[in-house]
Amino acid sequence: MTIREIGFDADDTLWHTERLFRLTQERFADLLAEHVEAGHLMERLLAAERRNLGAYGFGVKGFVLSMIETAIEATDGRVPAPVIAELLAAGREMLAHPIELKPHAGEVVERLARDHRLVLITKGDLLDQERKLAQSGLGEAFDAVEIVSDKVASVYARAFSEPERAVMVGDSMKSDIVPAIAAGAWALHVPSDIVWEVERADDPRSERFRRVAHLGEVPEAVEGLR
Ligand SMILES: [Mg+2]
Repeated sequence: MTIREIGFDADDTLWHTERLFRLTQERFADLLAEHVEAGHLMERLLAAERRNLGAYGFGVKGFVLSMIETAIEATDGRVPAPVIAELLAAGREMLAHPIELKPHAGEVVERLARDHRLVLITKGDLLDQERKLAQSGLGEAFDAVEIVSDKVASVYARAFSEPERAVMVGDSMKSDIVPAIAAGAWALHVPSDIVWEVERADDPRSERFRRVAHLGEVPEAVEGLR
C-alpha cells in the first residue's frame, strides 16, 4: 500500500502567513496604546476572532473586522475614526503583501507532483488565497485546489479519492492533522515557528500520524508511510 495522493496546506506550510498577522497585531496595539488602558488587548482581540469565526470565516477580512470591533469595545466607543482608517489600511496591506515561500517548498512540491496526485487544501478569504497561490508559482503542480470555509474531516473525505492512500501535510494540528486522520488519511505535521492559538490541538493517538522537522523532510517521510 503506497501513498497516491498528497494534500498540502498552504498558509505557514508552503508560504509564511502568521507572522504578517502578528506584525499587524503589533500595529493594532501601537495604534490603540494612547486610547486604552494597557493589558488584555490581545486577549480581547483573540476572543473577538474566536467569537466571529462562525460568521466571518478565516482570513484577513474577518481579522480586520475583529480588530475594529475590539477597538470600539476597548475604548467604550471612543476610538477615533483615523484609527479605524489605519486598521482598514493595515488589512489592505495584508491583502497586497507579497508571499514568501518557506524553504524547500518549490522543490518538494515539484518532486512529489511527479508520482502523486497533489491537492492544495486551504481556508481563508477566497480572493486572497487565489492571489497567493498564483503568486507562489506552484499552481501548476497541483491537480486540484480546494479553498474551503473550514478544514474538517468531511473536507478531507471529499478531497481524497482514497483516504487510506492519502496523506495531508500541514502545520496546523487542529485543521490539517486531526481532521485528516479522522477522515481515514495519513497526516504529516510540519511545525511552524508561529502558531495561532486557534490552530492548536493535541497530537492524535494514531499510527497514521507523523511529524517532520521541516518541508525538506517530507518526500522521504511520505516514502516511509506504510
Ligand atoms: Mg497552515
